[in-house]
Amino acid sequence: MALDPPTMLVLTVVLAATAALYLAIEWGSVRENSLLFWSAGFATITIGSTLALMRSNGLLVLGIWFANGLLVTAHWLFLLGVARFTETRLSRAWYLIFVLWGALLLLPEDQWWSKVMTFFNAGLVGVLALRASALLRPHGRSLSVGAVQLRYVMLGHGLFYILKACLAMVPGTLLDLASFRGEIIQISLVEGAVALMLIALSMTGSERYRREKRIARLAARDPLTTLYNRRALEVRAPRLLENVSVQQPGALLLIDIDNFKLVNDLYGHAAGDRLLVSLGEMILDGLPEDALAARLGGDEFVILLGNASSERIVALGSTLREGFRQQASTFATPEPVTLSIGANLFEYPPASLAALIEQSDAALYESKRGGRDSIRLVDAR
Ligand code: GH3
Ligand code: MG
Repeated sequence: MALDPPTMLVLTVVLAATAALYLAIEWGSVRENSLLFWSAGFATITIGSTLALMRSNGLLVLGIWFANGLLVTAHWLFLLGVARFTETRLSRAWYLIFVLWGALLLLPEDQWWSKVMTFFNAGLVGVLALRASALLRPHGRSLSVGAVQLRYVMLGHGLFYILKACLAMVPGTLLDLASFRGEIIQISLVEGAVALMLIALSMTGSERYRREKRIARLAARDPLTTLYNRRALEVRAPRLLENVSVQQPGALLLIDIDNFKLVNDLYGHAAGDRLLVSLGEMILDGLPEDALAARLGGDEFVILLGNASSERIVALGSTLREGFRQQASTFATPEPVTLSIGANLFEYPPASLAALIEQSDAALYESKRGGRDSIRLVDAR
């Protein structure tokens, strides 16, 4: 199999151009700027690898110094893209790599020229890739699967280049950049093609996974209160409900604001929204760990408790009603704006969440009919 350097370089040009185009198209649809930096990085590799082919024609400055410098520039663009992706600010000191690139032009052309050139170029690529990998370390927030892949691909790629830089300086290692002689160059070209594909794939992956996560998060939440919506509750409830037993009864509290329309009518929709947000916050603040809360729609909220008791339900209900009454007292209304709660305590997993909500709805209706501002508990045990 002929993996001669010119063939490998042509392959690299094709792969890098494809990756640049692919990432640019991806950017066109999602407008994440990191994709643009990464695409520019691959475009730079396309140009650099094309120029590298020219060293065979004796164009050494263009084919070696400039081409290798473009490889460093490409990794610098990759690093900028990762900084964008992780929302980190990069130190301006990274621009110094271009000063070093310029200084390499002054390197005396003796028998060490190829080695020293490789040492600095590979070293810079290695350091840039390792820095990108380090930026992708999780900082409190968890990383998407794609970003973890990119992190390890960059780590492997960076370590390879650091090793390459060190090996270049080992006395006796054959390395001639002008004629592509030396195993380091051969291996590096193969690694380059493989790394190129892996980096491009994990770059698109990291953005896609993050976007999917963001969309899933948005789809699960009520935009006003950021509580789960009904659909998200339906997805999460079964896990909580299947643990319900005689020893660990479950409970569902259905909460509806009394006379809420008055706030909207007298103080405007925005004031009504603010009250809904406060109630959402209150619910979240008092929510036990083994519980779920959601806004079903309008002024109706639900709390699903595992390991419940009638005392716990009444205590939670009273805390919420008291807290809400204080919040709502800022609005003077002809009828008091309070909370009505219908609750349902059960010790067997229910047929469905909908059936459970229906039972609590009947209790809520009783609460409303009984004059509002109260909790009605149905103990189904
Ligand atoms: P009741 O005491 O019988 O519960 O009556 P209510 O005035 O609270 O009205 P009801 O629960 O029957 O209806 C809820 C109202 O909440 C209807 C609608 O105008 C209002 N609403 C629904 N969604 C929103 C919202 O997102 N923001 C605001 N500000 N109001 C909303
Ligand atoms: Mg209401």
